[in-house]
Amino acid sequence: MAAVSAAEGVAATALQSVVQRIQHAAERCGRRSDQVRLVAVSKTKPVSLLKQVYDAGHRCFGENYVKELVDKAPQESLYQDEVFILLSLGELQLPDDIEWHFIGNLQSNKVKPLLTGVPNLAMVETVDDEKIANQLNCVAGDIGRKPLKVFIQVNTSGEETKSGVESDGCVELVKHVTSNCPNLEFCGLMTIGMPDYTSTPENFKTLARCRSEVCKALGISEDQCELSMGMSGDFELAVEMGSTNVRVGSTIFGAREYAKK
Ligand SMILES: *Cc1c(COP(=O)(O)O)cnc(C)c1O
Repeated sequence: MAAVSAAEGVAATALQSVVQRIQHAAERCGRRSDQVRLVAVSKTKPVSLLKQVYDAGHRCFGENYVKELVDKAPQESLYQDEVFILLSLGELQLPDDIEWHFIGNLQSNKVKPLLTGVPNLAMVETVDDEKIANQLNCVAGDIGRKPLKVFIQVNTSGEETKSGVESDGCVELVKHVTSNCPNLEFCGLMTIGMPDYTSTPENFKTLARCRSEVCKALGISEDQCELSMGMSGDFELAVEMGSTNVRVGSTIFGAREYAKK
């Protein structure tokens, strides 16, 4: 137990430090830090660790895998005594005022389990083709939830292994969402970019250019189109380049350990 509490304290402290670094980056370029949302990326991390960050006052978390997110999010159907048993095992799911962002690769057959299993899903950041947009729109309508916020994921690095729509197909996909998907709310663009720090500015500039094109095509102002970019290695740079949504995992929660296959 002692080891667990130490790790938890570290996560809360790391969170505060990331929040401060975002503030400073925003100040450096004359932006307000409340214009930047911090998504704490908690994939592979246990609920106990997320709870520590939650207890430090943080409410926005990001996950990549549908099953893992559904397991962590609250289930309305739990009976009182089941909750009690889970509580005593220390495995309680997380409170329902968390704003969950789904940031992983999403397959159409996982849309229904995601939307039904996570009533407080706030945003899907990874819409990258019409098929997935249509499926999200359809399920959101069927279950009668409020319109689901979405980002369009853009492949700004041109790497074949990365998901995301090509930058020159971005406007068309955004138009599809805004014209044909009434149960989705288009909020902006997302990119991952290359991990290599030196090439990242190019990827972030490409995303900003996509935003200009989208805003022109839709006749909206740039503050109506968010930019989700920046991770542990480059979130301050991303803020300086206009990011409104940084997704930070390992700097808050520590390195991820994946089970060996
Ligand atoms: C895992 C992940 C992150 C967080 O990465 P870190 O480098 O640990 O901060 C951010 N965005 C996406 C899409 C991810 O999959």
